[in-house]
Amino acid sequence: MRFDRAERLKRLPPYLFAEIDRKKDEMKKKGVDIIDLGVGDPDQPTPDHIVAALKKAAEDPANQKYPSYSGMDAFNAAVARWYKARFNVDLDEKTEVITLIGSKEGIAHMPLACINPGDRALVPSPAYPVYKIGVEFAGGEPFVMDLTAKNGFLPDLDAIPGDVADRSPLMFLNYPNNPTAAVADEAFFARVVEFANEHNVLVCHDAAYTEMTYDGYRPISFLSVPGAKEVGVEFHSLSKTYNMTGWRLGFAVGNAEAIAALGQVKSNIDSGAFDAVQVAGIAALEGDQGVVEDMKALYQQRRDMLVEGLAALGFDVEKPKATFYVWMPVPGGDSRAFATKLLEEAGIVVTPGVGFGEPGEGYVRFALTVGEARLKEAIDRMGDIAF
Ligand SMILES: *Cc1c(COP(=O)(O)O)cnc(C)c1O
Repeated sequence: MRFDRAERLKRLPPYLFAEIDRKKDEMKKKGVDIIDLGVGDPDQPTPDHIVAALKKAAEDPANQKYPSYSGMDAFNAAVARWYKARFNVDLDEKTEVITLIGSKEGIAHMPLACINPGDRALVPSPAYPVYKIGVEFAGGEPFVMDLTAKNGFLPDLDAIPGDVADRSPLMFLNYPNNPTAAVADEAFFARVVEFANEHNVLVCHDAAYTEMTYDGYRPISFLSVPGAKEVGVEFHSLSKTYNMTGWRLGFAVGNAEAIAALGQVKSNIDSGAFDAVQVAGIAALEGDQGVVEDMKALYQQRRDMLVEGLAALGFDVEKPKATFYVWMPVPGGDSRAFATKLLEEAGIVVTPGVGFGEPGEGYVRFALTVGEARLKEAIDRMGDIAF
């Protein structure tokens, strides 16, 4: 047989980090001590009480069967309680909450629930790549909303042509934002609700970083804005908040019709998250939140060390209010050239902004996922390079 990949795969953009990955592996083989600030994966372990809850739950035969498609009642109820306590948002756990196998799964599947071939969809850039690819896999044509410093990395809704908006069943947003670390306020979300009503757009807000914040900043939920639940859903993840990236547990909440449609897609593709993982997820959401505070303090110290170090070297960089990313404009504006230089001359891996979409060109993203000693080493090495 002659295997040929489907057009939807052939149409995917070339993997922009391939060159950097190749160089990184080559240098590692040569014994270079690489400092990897590229990946957004927490370096600290999952807190003990969450691991203990999984162990116990995994031993219970009741948790070893196929899970419920929409999630365990107990997990969805815990999500609803958490939303009420954290954001003062009321959710019906039966119709407005669905458990996901990591939020990426739900984000990627949502376009299948509401986009027809040829539809447009409003997608930010630079961004987490899953929004655009999810839309394309569903046969939609993304309309790119540029995120630029001029607008505080918020999309300019007035720049979206009305006929495009009218043909877009869906818009993706993400605040606090990966990769720019930008945050959104209530006034922006209120404008989004107005826009969504005007053009009949389902707003899909990816809220993966609401709990990873600094200097006392506490983001609101998109759903806490009046009218938001009528037009939107919010995606959440336990991955970053509780160092659980490998566990694959997240959830979507909000508009009941959209949640039901996502559930219909999922029930035809997957069979839900492992019940024992959901039991552990309840332990995460309802257990000691001191572990989250400890992680925030750790990232905040790293953020201060990196940003102050970069500023002392003459870089123009700001302290993010949220996320574990630092988004920095690069001298010369060529993000790939800058990342390559850092790797070749200092053994430091950062992510070129253009890899998150063309409007991300001119920036690189540092992930705060190594300890302070390694960050200090990175700054020292950068001090030896002429930029
Ligand atoms: C990490 C990340 C996710 C994915 O989280 P999972 O729940 O692990 O799938 C979603 N959105 C953004 C912006 C992320 O950075």
